[in-house]
Amino acid sequence: MRARVLVVAALLLVAGCGGQANPGATTDAAETSDATTVETTTGPANPWQSEQLTVAVQTGAYTDPGYVAAVRRATAYWNDHAAASAYDVELSFERNASNPDVVVEYTSRLQVCGGETSTGTFYSCTDTYDSGETEQGTSTVELAGGYTANATERIATRAFARLLSVSDGDEPADFPELSNPANRDPWPEPGPVVVSVDQTAASRNVTPLVEQAVAYWERDGVTKNYTADFRVAPNASNPDVVVRFEPNVTSCGVESGTSILGCAPVFGVHDRTYEQETIEIETGYTDESTLETLKHEFGHLHGRLHGQAPMPLMNATSDATRLPIPDARTVAYPWRTTNVSVAVEGEPTEFEQEQVDAALGYFESGAEGFFAAETPSFARTQNASAADIVITVSDDGSACGDGYGGGSCGSVRGYSTDADDALEYYTEAEITTANADEDSVAWHVGYWLAYAFGAQDGEFPEPLDGQNDDRDGRWWE
Ligand SMILES: [Zn+2]
Repeated sequence: MRARVLVVAALLLVAGCGGQANPGATTDAAETSDATTVETTTGPANPWQSEQLTVAVQTGAYTDPGYVAAVRRATAYWNDHAAASAYDVELSFERNASNPDVVVEYTSRLQVCGGETSTGTFYSCTDTYDSGETEQGTSTVELAGGYTANATERIATRAFARLLSVSDGDEPADFPELSNPANRDPWPEPGPVVVSVDQTAASRNVTPLVEQAVAYWERDGVTKNYTADFRVAPNASNPDVVVRFEPNVTSCGVESGTSILGCAPVFGVHDRTYEQETIEIETGYTDESTLETLKHEFGHLHGRLHGQAPMPLMNATSDATRLPIPDARTVAYPWRTTNVSVAVEGEPTEFEQEQVDAALGYFESGAEGFFAAETPSFARTQNASAADIVITVSDDGSACGDGYGGGSCGSVRGYSTDADDALEYYTEAEITTANADEDSVAWHVGYWLAYAFGAQDGEFPEPLDGQNDDRDGRWWE
């Protein structure tokens, strides 16, 4: 699971590569003065010795047509404002020109430009030229590709100002500002980010909570890094994001005391995700707490870090309220399904098979009022590893452990979804008869079926309660 620490120190480029630019230059508008008259020279007095510069684009991974258009518009801008340039040149946009004068290259991150380094990325890095210096090859304008096409157009326009040696203070009146340019979404595909919900382990339908959390981030005015919109499709077959509810999230995320409530990837501005991402949410909390955790984890997906707005939602810790959940042994029906698959293992004789069938049939027909509401139905399967209940009829007296000497044993597995260790519901049971009398196999299987359906002392059906039971008889009839 990714949980990256985001470092965004997007610095404005102030140094040029091919010559010395003034490293102290900033975007501050200088005192207004009438535009200095641009020197009109005869002939091409510029680094390229040419009146027309061919501008090509290499988008790299940034294939969105908007990234080509951003460069084309930036060149158009400077053709409209040519008077601001120190050079008398016209820019000719030719996306794939084979031998361009200027090539614009998109890269994901520009950490070094000229003699400067950035802990995040520069917006752009542009070749610049001293007076009288000439360019024999191709000038390069590098653009950081992590921003929306719209913001990139402003970045490109500003980068060309450096290429064209536009003096600080001589920028056109509509020279674009660039503060906090919007980032591209981490999801490269157009269209909404599809969110599915895996609520197998949840005790209730939690999809409405996921929908509310998604809607929270789509409100106007909420602070987030990306504009991706999310669509909840609980059963989507190929979602971008799975929200998975789990009984126990063991690492990362917001903590409540020693419990972790959830976990989600954090995308930095230059991260791209091409795979399915997972948000884990721990089950067993109230709707209110679960919603807060969902909102928090979706905040990470929107690029927000702990301590960032909106607070206190993005606090690293949160008070969450656990649901009181009755344990499986106290509820009327401790399984989550009434369709229970059963595999019979060992090498039971035909008679022992009938005994097993008799025990299963007894419970399917209600076990004389044992079930208060739901009653299971059993589907036989040959696939023991996928069966809910595995009944092993063994001739081995030690099948339930050495020194046990025969009889039977049983166990259940399930989920504990709350603070205590007791199981809230069962998902598997194993029943083993160990060299039991052939005609008591039904009783042994029946006894452990009662256990597997939550019977405690005093709750077993009368023929199975251990009080003068007719173990070898046809007690189920
Ligand atoms: Zn968090």
